[in-house]
Amino acid sequence: REWCVALPKVELHAHLNGSVRDSTLLELAKQLGDKGDIVFEDVKDVIMKNGRSLPECFRLFELYHILTTDHDTVTRITKEVVEDFAMENVVYLEIRTTPKNNEAKGMTKRSYMNAVIKGLKTVEAVEVVLFDSNSRADKTPMSELGGDTRKKKIYVRLLLSIDRRETTLAALDTVNLAMEMKDQGVIGIDLSGNPVVGEWETYLPALEHAKELGIPITIHCGEVANRNEIRAVLDFCPQRLGHVCCLNDEEWKKLKSLMIPVEICLTSNVMTGGAPSLELHHFADLYNAKHPLSLCTDDSGLFSTSLSNEYYLVASTFGLSKAELFQLAQDAVEFVFAGDELKRSLRELFERVGKELT
Ligand code: 5GP
Repeated sequence: REWCVALPKVELHAHLNGSVRDSTLLELAKQLGDKGDIVFEDVKDVIMKNGRSLPECFRLFELYHILTTDHDTVTRITKEVVEDFAMENVVYLEIRTTPKNNEAKGMTKRSYMNAVIKGLKTVEAVEVVLFDSNSRADKTPMSELGGDTRKKKIYVRLLLSIDRRETTLAALDTVNLAMEMKDQGVIGIDLSGNPVVGEWETYLPALEHAKELGIPITIHCGEVANRNEIRAVLDFCPQRLGHVCCLNDEEWKKLKSLMIPVEICLTSNVMTGGAPSLELHHFADLYNAKHPLSLCTDDSGLFSTSLSNEYYLVASTFGLSKAELFQLAQDAVEFVFAGDELKRSLRELFERVGKELT
C-alpha cells in the first residue's frame, strides 16, 4: 500500500463534488443544521453510509450540492480536493466539475468556475501548476518521494461537465465557457450525470461544437445498458471514455478497434453495480487486450477510496507486479488532455522516478 502511495500517479476522472472529504461535508451539514435549513442527524447518516447504489449516488449529489454550492464553499472544497490528491503523490490531476447557475446564491456558471479557480490559487500546502506557461515552476524538481520537506508539486487542469439534466442551450453555454476559460486551466469537456436521465440527441450539438472548437472530450459511457446511446457514443469517438461497463460483444470489439482510452473506476463500478465484483471487472479483459487505460477514482469521497487504493486493488485482485503498476501509471501520461510540453515534463518525471521505484 505504501508503495502505491509513493508511486507518482495521474488522475483523469475525478468529480469535484464527489471528491469532498466526509469531515468537510459533516461540518457544512452541521452549519446548515444549526441554521435550521436541514436536519443534521438525517444528513449525517446519509453522508456516513457505506455502499451506495447508482440511484442513491445521484440522490446524494443533490444533497452535496445543497451543502457545497456557494462561492466560498466551492473555493474551499476545490482547495481541499487538490491537497488530498497531491498528498498521495498524484502529480497530474484533471478535476471535472459541472458549472452551476444558482440565482438564489447569485451564482452563474462563470462565477462558479471563478470560485473553483480561486480554490486552486489558494492551495498552500502544495505547489499547484495551473498553466503551461508556468515554465519556470515546471522545471522545479518533483519532491517528496523520500519524504523531504520541499513542497509537493501537482499539475492541475479542469474539465467542464455537462449534466445530463441540462438542455441543449445550457450544454452549449458550458462548451462556450470552456473555450473562454482555456487560458485559465480549462482543457476539456465531460458528459456526466444520471445515466437514466436525458437523451444523447440533447447534448450532441454541444459535443459537436466542442469538437469543432478542438476541445478534447470525455464521455461517461455504458454505465447502464442503453444500446443506442453506447453505439452513438462510440460513433462519436471522443478522446476518452469513462466507465464502459455494460457493453455487449460487438461494442467491446468496436471499442477495442477504436483504441479509445478508458478511465477505469474499479471501486465506483463495483459499489454502484456497474461491475459484478472486483475479480470480474472489465479491467482484466481490457488490460490483457493491451487497450489504453488509466486507473481513476471517480468520486473518492463518495466511495471512500483514493487513487493509491485503486492501484493497490489492481495489484491485489489481478496480481500485477510493481513494474506493471508503474507502467500503468506511466502510460496514463499519454492520455492527458494537457499539451505536449506538459506531457514531456510528466514523461521525464516518470523516467526519473522509475529508477528509484522499480
Ligand atoms: P460536480 O460536477 O458537481 O462537481 O460533481 C458531481 C456531479 O458529477 C454529479 O452531480 C454527477 O452529475 C457527476 N457524477 C459524479 N459521479 C458520477 C458517476 O459515477 N457517473 C455519472 N454519470 N456522473 C457522475
